[in-house]
Amino acid sequence: MSLLAAGIVAAAPAGAQQPRRARPSVAPPPAPATRIPTPRSVLGFEPGEDRRLADWPTLLRYYQALAAASDRVDYRELGHSTLGAPLVALVISSPRNLRRLDRYRQLNAKLADPRTLQGTRDTQEALRDGKTVVLITSGVHSNEVGGHFTPAVLAYRLASDTSAATRAILDDVVLWLVPSLNPDGVTIVARWYNRTLGTAAEGSDPPELYHHYVGHDDNRDWYAFTQVETQLVVDSLHNVWHPQIVHDIHQQESDGSRLFLPPYLDPIEPNVDPLLVDGVNALGTAMAWQLAGEGKTGIAINAVYDAWTPARAYQHYHGGVRILSEAASANLASPVEIPFDQLATRARGFDPRQRSWNFTNPWPGGRWTLRDIVSYQADGAYALLENAARYRSHWLANFLTVEWRAVRGWKGWPYAYVIPRQHQDTIGLATLLGILHRGQVEVRTTLHPVAIGSQRFPAGSYIVVLRQPYAAFAKTLLEPQHYPDLRLYPGGPPLPPYDVTANTLPLLMGVTAVPARDSLRIGLSAPVEPPAATPGYPGFSGPDAPHVGLYRSYEASMDEGWTRWVFDTWKVPYVSVVDSVVRAGKLRDRFDVIVLPDQAPQELLEGLSRRYPPPYAGGLGAEGVKAVRQFVSDGGTLVALNDASRFAVQQLLLPVRNVLEGAADDEFYAPGSIFRLELDTDDPVARGMPSQSVAWYESGPAFEVLDSSAVRVIGRYPADPERVLLSGWVLHPERVAGRAALVEVKFGAGRVVLFGFRPQYRGQSIATYPLLFNSLQLTPR
Ligand SMILES: [Zn+2]
Repeated sequence: MSLLAAGIVAAAPAGAQQPRRARPSVAPPPAPATRIPTPRSVLGFEPGEDRRLADWPTLLRYYQALAAASDRVDYRELGHSTLGAPLVALVISSPRNLRRLDRYRQLNAKLADPRTLQGTRDTQEALRDGKTVVLITSGVHSNEVGGHFTPAVLAYRLASDTSAATRAILDDVVLWLVPSLNPDGVTIVARWYNRTLGTAAEGSDPPELYHHYVGHDDNRDWYAFTQVETQLVVDSLHNVWHPQIVHDIHQQESDGSRLFLPPYLDPIEPNVDPLLVDGVNALGTAMAWQLAGEGKTGIAINAVYDAWTPARAYQHYHGGVRILSEAASANLASPVEIPFDQLATRARGFDPRQRSWNFTNPWPGGRWTLRDIVSYQADGAYALLENAARYRSHWLANFLTVEWRAVRGWKGWPYAYVIPRQHQDTIGLATLLGILHRGQVEVRTTLHPVAIGSQRFPAGSYIVVLRQPYAAFAKTLLEPQHYPDLRLYPGGPPLPPYDVTANTLPLLMGVTAVPARDSLRIGLSAPVEPPAATPGYPGFSGPDAPHVGLYRSYEASMDEGWTRWVFDTWKVPYVSVVDSVVRAGKLRDRFDVIVLPDQAPQELLEGLSRRYPPPYAGGLGAEGVKAVRQFVSDGGTLVALNDASRFAVQQLLLPVRNVLEGAADDEFYAPGSIFRLELDTDDPVARGMPSQSVAWYESGPAFEVLDSSAVRVIGRYPADPERVLLSGWVLHPERVAGRAALVEVKFGAGRVVLFGFRPQYRGQSIATYPLLFNSLQLTPR
């Protein structure tokens, strides 16, 4: 401890002052290529300057000016964002490489699918002449504002620098740089920041989702592909260019490490090729080493972030490594002061105040600014590119090895999954096959009937053979997950995963997928296109359609956004309802049903703090609660999703008890899992559903009925604890076994429908959408 303290005292004066400011990535010296426009010349300020953010149109003008002036940079528009902004990419390489770009695309495509290589000479040529393809993406999370500027700083450096290191990068790497994966959010955050500058709300998050539909979950969409931004980047970059390296630039809390780089923590999702994990470990560690050599402190590796879910890591299932970086945040563009003794006492995998093997040189504390963030991020990305250039032949050879293994098939994996057709191809089936197709998985049909064990499937059934380049992507999405039982210490509380633990699409989408252990020895078709199906549900058009109000908190809830996305996609008409509308009362005059999306009871009640200007502070409040109670008494239907059910139970004093209220993690734990759900199909809410379905369980309540004359149980978990879990992780399932998961409570002339789970989870749980849609149609019209 004393050694550490001494080191900090010595480091503080030097570290806090000049060297960072002088780094070329932030304030590049005038290079010979003076005609290359600096970011400052377009933005009007230096990227990273305190209290300065730019909106997306301004940043776009810089990238256009840069590409116009530099023969190392081309500008491509990929399409348009949810709110209509241009989503763009820059391709950066030597002028010679840019002229031959299509040749490099073809060489890389051969390595990505070794079945297309024609003999040893073809292979040697692809390995010898190919370039390392790197995709750098930034800004998926728009309040991580360093990511708004780092691409501009990096692109300028690559366009203007004449050093040998930069020339090597340009010669040996084809870089695709996406300056923002969420352009809409750049403008949402910049406008809010500028509006609140100098007020109590300076540096606060905007009172709306920074992605129109999904907010922070826009980085959980890399297998479901629900959002247009994900689709554009997958279709036009990942699937065309097959990058060996993907670097995604993020920010984390202010009081941990200054920068996280991989290796990731365990668990690593087991279908990820081991050689990719080796690549992640080597590259992340090399970047940390290089940054440390440049004098940067506070870098943590093998900490906080695991690699379990495919939702953030498309490339781990497509032959590439994913290098996440997470720089410490300031308050948006406003600097923060963090004395050493206010750094977090613990972070997962290291202690921000203690030197350790994976956190070799603690940051001494002090002022932390946007300039620091941009400096760590831009120099980190440059270090990654240097590695990609220096080890070009290794990256390409290992990429080919990963794809060869996938094509030959992994020992112990099923030979294939058979997905039977349905009488009418449902939206669930069409969506699942569409996801596999978008992920470049070859789906075929059987030319003959198939028998797997005692099950027989007719000719024409869909089949996914797990001997193809992206077999791991298919397997991960088609099989149940068995999350390892990780504890803080033996017998201790669970070690929480970084994100949810299940992603089994057949369960979520109501589709059957049967593994075939052995080769089927039957004829198969060529790869087929997925069937088309148009989302829609009866009862939501014409004069009898219910009048739906969807509560929208200023303490923006991602589940609210997902609900809006599902309603818009399935053409369910609704009106978004904010606090002032609820508090004004007379809700029954306007609405038949009001939906409270998943949100903590406290947030619903109190909303944003008084730091925010009107009308954003205050939540529903007592007036809002009174109005909601009156609405239900007057005959309306209140539908409460997941955690919002606890709010409804507490505020309307409903005769049910949450059996999990106050349960500690070691008493019950299921951090995003798929449970079995048994339904009373005579109930209107379960109309059209099978009696056995699923529930996306994520920290919701489970109900004990206190007054059976007022409460009807529509769905419950199986009485046998062993049957509760279908995919993911659960500790002590006996706590919910046999408990109610979905109930309707009579209240005055109306009713409250309480979901203990998320029926429209991240736009994926199509199997349970009917439960939500039916519950919107209960008020007689
Ligand atoms: Zn982030």
